[in-house]
Amino acid sequence: MGIDLGTCNTLVAVRGQGIVLNEPSVVAVKKGTNQVLKGGQAVGWVAKEMLGKTPGSITAVRPLKDGVISDFEITEAMLNYFITKVTGRVRMLGPRVVISIPSGITAVEKRAVFDSAEHAGARKTYLLEEPIAAAIGAGLPFAEPTASMIVDIGGGTTEVAIMALADIANCESVRVAGDDMDEAIIAHMKRTYSLMIGEQTAERVKIQIGSAAPTGEETEMEVRGRDMVSGLPRKTTITSEEVREALSEPITNIIEAVTRTLERAEPELAADLVENGIMLAGGGSLLSGLPIQINKATGLDVTLAEDPLTCVARGTAIYLENIDVWKDTLENNSDI
Ligand code: ADP
Ligand code: MG
Repeated sequence: MGIDLGTCNTLVAVRGQGIVLNEPSVVAVKKGTNQVLKGGQAVGWVAKEMLGKTPGSITAVRPLKDGVISDFEITEAMLNYFITKVTGRVRMLGPRVVISIPSGITAVEKRAVFDSAEHAGARKTYLLEEPIAAAIGAGLPFAEPTASMIVDIGGGTTEVAIMALADIANCESVRVAGDDMDEAIIAHMKRTYSLMIGEQTAERVKIQIGSAAPTGEETEMEVRGRDMVSGLPRKTTITSEEVREALSEPITNIIEAVTRTLERAEPELAADLVENGIMLAGGGSLLSGLPIQINKATGLDVTLAEDPLTCVARGTAIYLENIDVWKDTLENNSDI
């Protein structure tokens, strides 16, 4: 099975069956501890429902929130829960597992992910850097002697990579992605309306009326939260223009990571990209107008991958199918 261990969502893809699991990377724990609730059952959707609404004794945590593993035990419990759920459902014994991991994580963190998979019953575990998985899932010719560029915008991190001949030539992982867009909206509501809104509300605003560039009709949306002065519930209406303005800082940071990576590319690879353009993947790339904005900043063609949220998971499953062909070229990336 192929696993996309994302900062927001974890997806599992199985050859011939497509995506068999798609759940938030969230775990409910006892407050102040790293004890997972109910013998490890409060993971994924169950735990996400609890985010922001948990009673005093419970907190819901996202162990990979910023692209680093904040807690090994919680991450292991999460991975174990997901792997066991899939192996139980599709009757797999000792599966071979390919896990895509953010390229910024440390050797110790890689080891922890690797060990968790083995504890969860994997017969053989391979770690694959996320940009490579995304490139494979998006159908880029990453193993060929021509450059491909992928920008994978997740929840906690954006991974930018230029690759050729099955290897990464230049890459950068920045901790600015979808979550920062939500936070920018929260900050805007505080500053402009003295209204405190929750993360889930901010995410809804971003998805419904958020944009990186004007893309046609401007709209508005009613937003509910708590008044910071009176402390009472209140609602207000915001426009798509002001949300775009609020999102400009995180968007600029993401675009700067893209241009920096391009500036570092070898001239021959840069030349290829004039033809091949840039591919976007990850949930954050669904923000309206983002391809236009990246095109403006770079002058390159920008394409949104088909089904950007499942790109990495599909890539890991394809990688597993072709592991004998690709293993050697990727040894430095996938070993720990
Ligand atoms: P990760 O790989 O880090 O788990 P994902 O690729 O699953 O992240 O993307 C999750 C992010 O994508 C979240 O920040 C979510 O709000 C954002 N997202 C999902 N759909 C959309 C959309 N239609 N427009 C803008 N952002 C979106
Ligand atoms: Mg991802």
